[in-house]
Amino acid sequence: MNDAKNELNEKLIIELMKKYNDDLFPMYVEFPHKSFWSEKLKEEDYKNALKNLFSTDYKKKAPLLLYVHIPYCPKQCWFCICYSKVTKDYEQVKRYLDYLFREIDMLKKFFDENGITPNFHDIHLGGGSPTYLKEEDFDSLIEKLKSIVDFKNIREFTIEIDPRAVTGETLKYYHSKGINRISLGIQDFDPEVQKAVNRIQPVELIEKLLTPEIRKNFSGVNFDILCGLPRQTRESFRKTIETVIKLSPDRICNVFVTYATSYRKHQKLIKEKEVPDIYERTILFYESVQTLIKNGYVRIGFDHFAKSTDQLAKAFSNKSIHWNGLGYRAGEFMDTIGIGTSSASRVTPYYYSQNYYELPLYEKAIDEGKLPIYRGYKMNSNDVIRREIIHTMRSFFSLDFHKIEQLYNIKFKEYFKKELKTLQIFEKDNLLNVSDDMIDITELGKYFIYQICQVFDTYIPYKSK
Ligand code: SF4
Repeated sequence: MNDAKNELNEKLIIELMKKYNDDLFPMYVEFPHKSFWSEKLKEEDYKNALKNLFSTDYKKKAPLLLYVHIPYCPKQCWFCICYSKVTKDYEQVKRYLDYLFREIDMLKKFFDENGITPNFHDIHLGGGSPTYLKEEDFDSLIEKLKSIVDFKNIREFTIEIDPRAVTGETLKYYHSKGINRISLGIQDFDPEVQKAVNRIQPVELIEKLLTPEIRKNFSGVNFDILCGLPRQTRESFRKTIETVIKLSPDRICNVFVTYATSYRKHQKLIKEKEVPDIYERTILFYESVQTLIKNGYVRIGFDHFAKSTDQLAKAFSNKSIHWNGLGYRAGEFMDTIGIGTSSASRVTPYYYSQNYYELPLYEKAIDEGKLPIYRGYKMNSNDVIRREIIHTMRSFFSLDFHKIEQLYNIKFKEYFKKELKTLQIFEKDNLLNVSDDMIDITELGKYFIYQICQVFDTYIPYKSK
């Protein structure tokens, strides 16, 4: 590729997308991808992993993240890829809470029987829509969580907000319950795009919610934006990003829509011809990244952005951020314990576990007195090394061979001889530079970070074309 072409521009990105794009490209929320986890690993395996996690005094004190999943929503957004259940019948939500509370009781019993006091530092309420819960039920959830969480130790308590379901008063109520971070599902501000995805939420709604009086209650406000929605055009998406910047969230998560109509049937309600193709989506994303950076946001990993004054951006410059499947967090890595349908846990570097997606299976396990474990994954040492590499590169766009050698007692260039050879293809296209002791991803290469990470993936390996 000649030098004149090696500038960061749309034409070049599209040309390279055609070369490197693949139908299957993992976004490395977990490694290995959940489709490789085993349904043979159930409750006992998870409990053994939990016992290992708390097996030394040091580990007993290690900070943990608690994820709580509330799958219900009152209305279906057509782009949605989350595990959510749409109902207007609130009795179903109450029934779910009853089972969720029984799952918490089981965990508490297990902790008590094994002399474990989990040191939760962060809580994340996600869904679905946790904002669907009525206040009396939200109160009960917090009281129930207190049986396993010492709220005095909580550093970050985040809730995912459906802006259509809350008022300023609701946000003040959440603050009174200890919540200090809110994450708003914005997706797109364009009225035509909102119509095309069955989610109407005018910008005025968000402006009314985020008054200075409300914002002072929260140490952080996050916006989720989706790139690749139907009827999004370059012009409309530019306006959305400009509006986002005016509203000034502390953090922005700007991700590609995943289309998977085979298991998210409601996505078929979206008119395919209105969806920007993968190349146009990439350009929408590319432009939005440039605009956010120009306006003072720091790019963190592929698709996260934070104001330079935000704790996450500061931690990023000190290389002390961690990816844990719910996004980036500042500070030390935290293992995650997930509760509720579909929630995933990571306990110790060697074990992943996930609850059942389907409510009947989740309820059946709890009725039988078992933790509702659907599947799990035992990492071997090779998996652990590769995950470290993938997460480091997707977060920092560089990799220090010596650090990996020190952590895992390997000789990097021998261990990854084949991978380093494959990376030469990317190097020729100016997507990265490999020196004696580093891989550095170029500005252009940042748009291809998942494909570059795939070179180190033994489960969904990179296939050169
Ligand atoms: S996008 Fe959020 S609110 Fe909409 S259906 Fe999915 S989980 Fe529910």
